[in-house]
Amino acid sequence: MDGLVIRPTAAAAAARRPDLPPDLRLALACFGPRRPGQGPREECGVFGIYGHPEAARMAYYGLHALQHRGEESAGIAVADGRRLEVVKGMGLVTDVFSEESLGRLLGDRAIGHVRYSTTGASVPANAQPYVVRGRRGSLAIAHNGNFTNARVLRDRLEQEGAIFTTTADTEVLAHLIARHRWEAGGLEAAIARALQEIRGAYALVMLTEEKLIGLRDPHGIRPLALGKLGDAWVLASESCAFDAIGAEFVRETAPGEMVVVEGGRLTSRQALPAAGPSRLCIFEYVYFARPDSNLQGRNVHAARKEMGRQLAREAPAAADLVIGVPDSSVSAATGFAEESGIPYEMGLVKNRYIGRTFIQPRQGLRAQGVRMKHNPLRMVLEGKRVVLVDDSIVRGTTLRHLIGLLREAGAREVHLRIASPPYVNSCHYGIDTADSGSLVARGRSIEAVREYVGADSLHYLSLEGLIRAVGIASPEMGFCHACFTGEYPVPVDEEAGKDALEAAEDG
Ligand code: SF4
Repeated sequence: MDGLVIRPTAAAAAARRPDLPPDLRLALACFGPRRPGQGPREECGVFGIYGHPEAARMAYYGLHALQHRGEESAGIAVADGRRLEVVKGMGLVTDVFSEESLGRLLGDRAIGHVRYSTTGASVPANAQPYVVRGRRGSLAIAHNGNFTNARVLRDRLEQEGAIFTTTADTEVLAHLIARHRWEAGGLEAAIARALQEIRGAYALVMLTEEKLIGLRDPHGIRPLALGKLGDAWVLASESCAFDAIGAEFVRETAPGEMVVVEGGRLTSRQALPAAGPSRLCIFEYVYFARPDSNLQGRNVHAARKEMGRQLAREAPAAADLVIGVPDSSVSAATGFAEESGIPYEMGLVKNRYIGRTFIQPRQGLRAQGVRMKHNPLRMVLEGKRVVLVDDSIVRGTTLRHLIGLLREAGAREVHLRIASPPYVNSCHYGIDTADSGSLVARGRSIEAVREYVGADSLHYLSLEGLIRAVGIASPEMGFCHACFTGEYPVPVDEEAGKDALEAAEDG
């Protein structure tokens, strides 16, 4: 529009003004500044329930169990057959919801979302569930993953007259569904048609006034499990959310499968043809999932412990004790200790009130965060040769600081063992791993990485060892391991993909 100029920084500031209407703040947030190289790559958690009188409260507990998958924003949409309401906001689940706000979310069906992103402006614009309302009713969408062709689709939709109010690629999906909703076949057919146009990795839960819908991408890259709580059906990114509410695990949803719960009845259909063998993200086992979750029938703690055992077989070390970087590496460290016969010790004490350093966005904050988060135990470490086990090295900054702290506390030698292969490629499927240029192992030899982090020795677990440790590979069940190998199951055009990711954000 001629004569109207919105400066990004001013727009972002205005988006935080509490005196402006929420819709205007949301629209202003879309003009906010983006830092160079910043992308939407992130990890999120989704939850859905149908047929429980306290659906919103169950979603709250389920999201609390999934909090490790996203600490930036949280939201719950609830429906009672006639109305659909949503509450969402920035912060942890416990920050966003109160007894009062949960009390307003009435209905027996709900979906929820926790989100982490690398985006700069801390504004609620991209908090989920995303809700669209029309003459055919409301649709709430919560999304874990990434649409790799979101930019192309958004450009096309804008040329055709669509207006976007967020920078989230979830909105691209909402527009596509809305267009197809006027065709024959109802909502499920519209969703399937929309997703035929979308490439990427995703687990989706959706809610209308009447239905709960769950859907997984044709490669099965992002996880989505089905459970039962009495007569209620439950969907969640990880089975630990079922445990939190006392639900039973029923099964994983299949790649390309759509489950629909309506009138208390669950139906399943193959919305999109499965794209060959399943390709679950192997990094879920390495780092993301909680150790008490089961993925594809394999307990995550048991898989990590076996990674440690395998690592001890592949790369033994002469040392006095084994320590793990809390919390995600403790399982692998105990496996390493058991296999090697070297005692496991608690050499690092974690301050549990600081978020996971991996998902902190800025290098400067990360350096300070390491010192605040991990305190080395001098009485354990002094004069000792230490095996330090970590699940992965992404940027290397955290480990560099940690190893420095161990030496300050008196460790004589630090032998670093990594329970996964070198992380050398960016993830394009919904995980924040930064630009490939900031991956410390990319283009560097193992010796150069060792030197950078300051360890006395460094060894990684082999890919074969990792797959063996997870222990469920079969002709039907494979993994995405593109961040280690560059073998992306969904083709990624590095240039177009990068633009697409920088321009659209997801959960
Ligand atoms: S590229 Fe790595 S982090 Fe991304 S989905 Fe594949 S295995 Fe997971």
